[in-house]
Amino acid sequence: MKAKKSLGQNFLNDISVLEKIINVTPIKEKNILEIGPGTGNLTSFILKKNPRKIFVIEKDEYLANILKDKFKNEITIINDDVLKIDESSLINEKLTVFGNLPYNISTEILIKWILNLKNYFWFDFLVLMFQKEVADRIIAKSNTSTYGRLSILSNWKLNVRKICDIEPQSFTPRPKIRSSLLFFTPRDKFYNIKDPKNLEKVTRIFFNHRRKMLKKPFKQLFGSNQKVSDKLNIDLNLRPQNLNFETYYKLTAEYENLSG
Ligand code: SAH
Repeated sequence: MKAKKSLGQNFLNDISVLEKIINVTPIKEKNILEIGPGTGNLTSFILKKNPRKIFVIEKDEYLANILKDKFKNEITIINDDVLKIDESSLINEKLTVFGNLPYNISTEILIKWILNLKNYFWFDFLVLMFQKEVADRIIAKSNTSTYGRLSILSNWKLNVRKICDIEPQSFTPRPKIRSSLLFFTPRDKFYNIKDPKNLEKVTRIFFNHRRKMLKKPFKQLFGSNQKVSDKLNIDLNLRPQNLNFETYYKLTAEYENLSG
């Protein structure tokens, strides 16, 4: 079988890694959603743990048919693009999500989930594989070079923890880069932002010029109005990476107040 590069197909066939993934969080009697099951390597391992139900979303029709033959009615196969699915409507209970994500759209998937979250979390845990470079940006803290939009968006409603790094030889075909397995859990408390798209906008404007001083993005968002920087006690000579998570959430709330 020839893996399709355009669909980010790198199949995980390292038993010790598969074991590790299914032991991150309990599966027995849970409702599971797996993104990009491919040939079903991880799916088989999940099934061994006796979940209540498994949904899988696989875009590749050829693979979806292989999965149908392999698993029959043990799993529910959705042959579609994960970016087009409303996961919250799949089932009326929380889903635990697993995925060795297609790396070309891994950030797009995560950002879609974060931006679409309403007051209700449709998932209880996310166990996701990313390329290491992206995982590093997701878990980054302020004052580091990898800190930015992705860490600020992720940390708003989610706790994130790295489980481990995974070497290219655990996959077929081997990717050129290392991977990391991340574990996300919903936060009980998070800063109130009316429209998450505004958080995306604010962080985009700030990190467009990550080496420039804060003056420039401040001017772009708030004009010559100094009230916001005064109120939040922000030194405009600092750089975007020097502001912590909380400050970006507050800045977004201020932006929402001012833009009505
Ligand atoms: N989980 C499998 C395969 C991971 S490779 C394993 O670990 O072996 C990524 C998988 O995501 C591939 O099967 C690919 O076909 C699928 N995929 C790629 N883009 C997708 C999309 N937009 N929606 C759903 N699945 C997608």
